[in-house]
Amino acid sequence: MDVVDVAQQEESHALSVALSKRKPTGPLPRGYCLECGDEDVGNSRWCSAKCAADWERREKQAGRL
Ligand SMILES: [Zn+2]
Repeated sequence: MDVVDVAQQEESHALSVALSKRKPTGPLPRGYCLECGDEDVGNSRWCSAKCAADWERREKQAGRL
């Protein structure tokens, strides 16, 4: 194994880690709840687990997830 092999292995490992950490679906946080519009969500996409579940269910029904 030479240096190039090691570099390629590390690169593919980093990619797989990045993919595994990626949120499964949906947009980035926008500063408000994507479901009800509540602005007190910090760095989250929804204000509550209920809103997240409702949003995900609707997006799936709409065929967007
Ligand atoms: Zn909400």
